[in-house]
Amino acid sequence: MSDENAAFTPTQIRQAGPAQLAITWQDGHESVYAVRDLRLACGCAICVDEWTGEEHLDPACVPEDVRPLKIESVGRYALQIQWSDGHDTGIYPFRRLRALDAG
Ligand SMILES: [Zn+2]
Repeated sequence: MSDENAAFTPTQIRQAGPAQLAITWQDGHESVYAVRDLRLACGCAICVDEWTGEEHLDPACVPEDVRPLKIESVGRYALQIQWSDGHDTGIYPFRRLRALDAG
């Protein structure tokens, strides 16, 4: 595996706090996300228009205490997260997750 892929390959995914999710990447970097930010960053066809990129998701409709109920890996490239607000169509490609991490 090349070094480039290491930056997009999670080695560990864990709950880092009551509302935080941490991903450790193969290159040693750890990303910590507020789970609600991840919910708001959902890029699925329901939340974001596939063609125009227009965001349909109203942040006011996402509960402050939204939580992931179930996190599954999709192949070797993404996570699928089932959310406590009933939303379960979100796929989070590892590259996108890494890009969401400002740090
Ligand atoms: Zn979505």
